[in-house]
Amino acid sequence: MTTFWSFAAYKSERTDLVDFATPIAIAKQALDALQSLRKIEKALDQATLKAELAEVTSKMADVRMALLEAREEAGAKDAEIARLLKEFEARADLVTVGQFKYYPAASDRSKPFGFPICPRCEQIEGRIVLLREADLRHATCPHCKTTYRAWYYNEPAGSPA
Ligand SMILES: [Zn+2]
Repeated sequence: MTTFWSFAAYKSERTDLVDFATPIAIAKQALDALQSLRKIEKALDQATLKAELAEVTSKMADVRMALLEAREEAGAKDAEIARLLKEFEARADLVTVGQFKYYPAASDRSKPFGFPICPRCEQIEGRIVLLREADLRHATCPHCKTTYRAWYYNEPAGSPA
């Protein structure tokens, strides 16, 4: 009696979904195999029984592995959702000066503060990346490495900071 199935065959084609179908499918087959083993257990010799149990045990290890992968994928997606929500909120507050968008100053949220965000990363990837000082007149994006002629804004004069 050679039951069995291939772990790879159950791997979902969809890469955009967290794959719970794989561990569920393997677990179901492992359970089915255990149930049929229980029915015929007395008819099997010890060696065959051991071999079949080893096979089921190995499939349960596959289930565990697939669940760990699914948990990792779900965690990565949660982190991405959190990042997008945070950026979505931040976007509403950005202050536009010329071609650049800045985070608002703490003391006056209509005024820009610090270096601007990278226009390229925002437009192309929808990602908010703060530029970093390159030299006196330039700032560079740490993500896409584009350098801009950009200005740094201090807190507006008269602010407590
Ligand atoms: Zn960039």
